[in-house]
Amino acid sequence: VINIYAESIFREEKKIGTLFVHRDITEEYEIDQMKSELVSTVSHELRTPLASVLGFAELMLTKEMKPERQKKYLETIYKEAHRLTNLINDFLDLQRMESGRQVYEQREVDLLRVAEEILESFKINHSAHQFVITNHAEKTEVQGDRERIIQLYTNLIGNAVKFSPNGGTIELSFCNADNEIEVKVIDQGLGIPEKDLPKLFNKFHRIDNSDRRKIGGTGLGLAICKEIVEAHKGRIFVQSKLGEGSMFCFCMPVDTSALQLKEPQSEHI
Ligand code: ADP
Repeated sequence: VINIYAESIFREEKKIGTLFVHRDITEEYEIDQMKSELVSTVSHELRTPLASVLGFAELMLTKEMKPERQKKYLETIYKEAHRLTNLINDFLDLQRMESGRQVYEQREVDLLRVAEEILESFKINHSAHQFVITNHAEKTEVQGDRERIIQLYTNLIGNAVKFSPNGGTIELSFCNADNEIEVKVIDQGLGIPEKDLPKLFNKFHRIDNSDRRKIGGTGLGLAICKEIVEAHKGRIFVQSKLGEGSMFCFCMPVDTSALQLKEPQSEHI
């Protein structure tokens, strides 16, 4: 995008030429585009659940109805309010991470142990799925932030469950390679179209297929995962085949000296 500025040049009231300034404003233009896209996505994402909450609350206030119907409406209001809270929390988390304000603890965390603990609670709530851990790693400890690693696992395993609506096995596999620990979350679910793979870790990127429309989400989970993995000096990537399943893999260094996480700072409230 080129911005052109033109000004006539006069000498003794006689025009002797024109000055043109060409400026490449592509970068400013792209930043502006991104900002307005973000604002419109956020307001759309906030408006949709809010419209449901208001609509159902109004119906309940203005219409006589049986208790069963009231209960159904209240369930929808509760679900939508919950969705709104998740969206705001995810959005604030990501904002803090992207702006460098997120403070990461630096303690020893056993990635295998944390995965086992998280899977226990998934097993209780998702009986249609089988959860399996395969461990080929000798060393599964990293230096990092336990809470954030829990958030990372919860997003990846939560997606594996959500996008395997017909059940199936969800496998977590661990191995060591090149002083790294490699964790794979493998599902047998819907899979991801090839064209979406490069944009999957961008915020608000959701796949708009009829089979996914009913599945809730914020489109921020994977962007948060990427921030967390990169803050631990790691990498995250995905392989997937539509209709067959997906494999999300993250690697983190096991060598503690390679880490340079931020020191915890005291927060002013
Ligand atoms: P969401 O809140 O929508 O789950 P994410 O950022 O976690 O947001 O994921 C973005 C999109 O990537 C999802 O909407 C979904 O279409 C796709 N996706 C993520 N994980 C999987 C998976 N395991 N299987 C199939 N599709 C997935």
